This record gives sequence, C-alpha cells and structure tokens, in this order.
Amino acid sequence: MTKNSDLRVTLSLDEIPKKWYNIAADLKGLQPTLHPGTREPVTEEDLAPVFTKSVIKQEMSTERYITIPKEVRENYISLNRPSPLQRAVNLEKVLRTPAKIYFKREDLSPVGSHKGNSALAQAYYCMKDGIHTITTETGAGQWGTALALASSIFDLDCTVFMVRVSYDQKPFRRTIMQTYGAKVHASPSPVTEYGKKLLKEHPDTTGSLGIAISEAIEMAVRDPGTKYTLGSVANSVILHQTVIGLETMEQMKKAEIVPDHMVACIGGGSNFAGFVFPMMREKMLGKTECEFVAAEPKAAASLTEGEFRYDFGDTAGMTPLFKMFTLGHDFIPSGIHAGGLRYHGMSPLVSEAYNQGLMSARSYDQTETFEAGVLFAKAEGIIPAPESTHAIKAAIDLALEAKAKNEEKTIVFCLSGHGMLDLAGYEKFISGTLASSSRMN
Ligand SMILES: *Cc1c(COP(=O)(O)O)cnc(C)c1O
Repeated sequence: MTKNSDLRVTLSLDEIPKKWYNIAADLKGLQPTLHPGTREPVTEEDLAPVFTKSVIKQEMSTERYITIPKEVRENYISLNRPSPLQRAVNLEKVLRTPAKIYFKREDLSPVGSHKGNSALAQAYYCMKDGIHTITTETGAGQWGTALALASSIFDLDCTVFMVRVSYDQKPFRRTIMQTYGAKVHASPSPVTEYGKKLLKEHPDTTGSLGIAISEAIEMAVRDPGTKYTLGSVANSVILHQTVIGLETMEQMKKAEIVPDHMVACIGGGSNFAGFVFPMMREKMLGKTECEFVAAEPKAAASLTEGEFRYDFGDTAGMTPLFKMFTLGHDFIPSGIHAGGLRYHGMSPLVSEAYNQGLMSARSYDQTETFEAGVLFAKAEGIIPAPESTHAIKAAIDLALEAKAKNEEKTIVFCLSGHGMLDLAGYEKFISGTLASSSRMN
C-alpha cells in the first residue's frame, strides 16, 4: 500500500539541519593537498590570497559536525529549503518496475540547482571576513547564478567567468546573473592575462571550466579585498552541500524509506557527496547496506576512466595539487550540454571514497541521458537539467535491473536541478540532431 505521506515528504523550517557533516572526520587515508612549487602540504597562508579565511579553515577541518551560521540557516528559505523528497510514481508505472523511486528536489531552488547551498555559505563568510568582491567561474551557468544571488543577499560585488560554449548556448543564464547584479565575462576573456594569451593562441576555443577557474583566480590574487569561490570539488563546498543529504536522511526516517541505492550525477562531486556522505557515514558504521552510485558523462569520465594521482584543479596550473581521479588538467571535454559535468578532475573526498570502494560509478553518453530525461519529463512533468539526466538514467537502469530480477528495491536519487534554461539541448534531442558525445570534438 502506498501511503499518501510517502509521496511527498516535507520538513518544516525548524527541521532544517543545524550542522553540516564533514566526512574528513571519518574517511581514513586522505592525502594532503600539495603546494605546486614545494610539493609540501598547503598551509592556510598559501591559500589566503585566493580564498577567504573562514572557508580555508573549513577546507582543512576534520571536525565531524560544523554549525551552520544563523544567517545562512535563515536564508535557506530564499533557496526554497527544506526541499521535498518526492516519489516518482508515474515513472515507476511507465517502467513497470517493482522498485520504488524517490527524488530529492534541488530543482525547486530559484537559482535552478543545488549550487545555492554553498554559494549562500561562501558569500556569508566573505561578508563576515570583510571581503568586497567575489569572483568565480561557471560552466553551465548554475554556479554563477547561485553566487550572483548569494552575493546580492549579502551585499557583495560578484564577477563571473562563464565558459564560452555555455555563454553561447545559454544566453538567458547570463541575463539572470546580471539581474541579480553580477558582472559576466565569456571565458577565455580579454580581462585577464591568461585569457588574453589563450584568445591569441586559440581564438575559436569553446573554453573549459579549468580555463575559467584560472581567470577567476588571477583576478582574486590581484586584490586582497577580492576572493575566489569554488562551486564544487573543494572540501568546504561538499561540507555545505551535506544539507541535502542530512535533510534526505531526516525525510527517509520520517517516511520509513530504506534506500538500497542512492544515486546522483557527478561532475566535481558536490551534489553527489552532499547527498550521500551523511548516509555513507551510516554505511561506515555498519548501519546500512545502501549502495552509492555516481553517474558521470562519457565526455568527462574522471572516475571510470581517469587515474588516481596528484593533479591541478585548473588548466593553467595555478591551483594546489589535489590527490584525485583526473583525466589530466589539460583535458578539454567536448561541448556536451551538461556543462556542469565538463570537468577533468574529481573532488578529493569523493576520489578517496571511490578508491576505497565505498561507492561505484557509471558513465553515459549524452544521447542516452537526454532520452532518460525526456522519459522522466513525460512521467513527472519536470524538465531536468542535462546534468541531472545522468542521475535519472542511472536510477532508471537500476529500476530496470530490479524489474529483471523481480526485486522490490528502493532507489533514491538527487534531482540536482531543472532544465528550463537548457531547452536548446532538448530541442536538438527532439529534432534528432543531438550529437553523441563520442562524435564530438
Ligand atoms: C553544477 C551542477 C552539477 C555538477 O556539479 P557537482 O559538483 O558534481 O554536483 C550537477 N547538476 C547540476 C544541476 C549542476 O548545476
């Protein structure tokens, strides 16, 4: 019997978690991040020109639970938190699967994705530390959008370097960022030395997240009142995103949902890690058998095809060296529509969890993920972000595997964002002109 209360599990504002979960307290064997010159572990002073000090402290912290500042908790309402956990009843019917499928609705945020969760925290810490301007890169535009709104909430200036291919594919994203008050440059741009150099050497480049990161860092190090913020990958970002997984655990407890699989798409790792890490702690404690599945694009398959080694986070080699799964810092992924997944590396925390076999990964071509996205849209009415369609594809595959074995599995996935600003990709899919990732540059 399906109880109505299972179909949409909500939390009240008072039930928003009061602390984030830091997996660095529980994950053994983490390798330090190294200074690129000395190859010694990075220090707080090394990072100070780039990041604000509160965020650096979190980056290095091994405290298990970190209090969410009151100002951040109070502003979660502007991101539509707490977000519901919803059952995909019609999708289950279409698939004729005995599996139950639930999804966590990060698509309901006004910025369109989960990225607001960390943007809000980072903008708050910059304001508190006396910073006047924040810079960043954005791939598909979601991080830039999130940071533009968070900067506006905490009254900071915001400059965004937007990867060229997305700047051209998603002009409305730029308009949203500008509406929230941000300055937006197509990357590579003529406003940094690195951007100028690249434009001269490769005038037709589609850009990449790695290049845009290099530009945003260059701008931050020029001025002590300007700091750089990362939208994924970093330990601090993942810490902030655990609000997703902590809410989900509370909701699963309320509705007596016992997950067999938790699934999320993965680019730099923040929605995946934020969603699953609190539950991974339960797994490390032997309290659950839940399997964690990361869905990545074939075009940037760092977990399934990369190597676990030290590499730079950006293309120019300005960041510290991270121990992570990487395709090489000079790898430029093809221009798939899931711009937020076009990254050569992977969060060191996720990389270590993967290295230890605490989770698995699957990779997909963009044609099969759009197909899954359209199936989901027809069943549930929600047009998912191209990134999120990777999670949907993996959840559908797991539901079909359960059907083949006639098993009543429970699958919970993170719907990391909506695709209402990614309709150009859907348009191509519908008209049959969407290229397979394997046939792109
Ligand atoms: C940015 C983004 C992603 C990928 O980033 P992660 O850090 O891997 O979560 C996934 N989905 C959406 C909607 C995004 O905006």
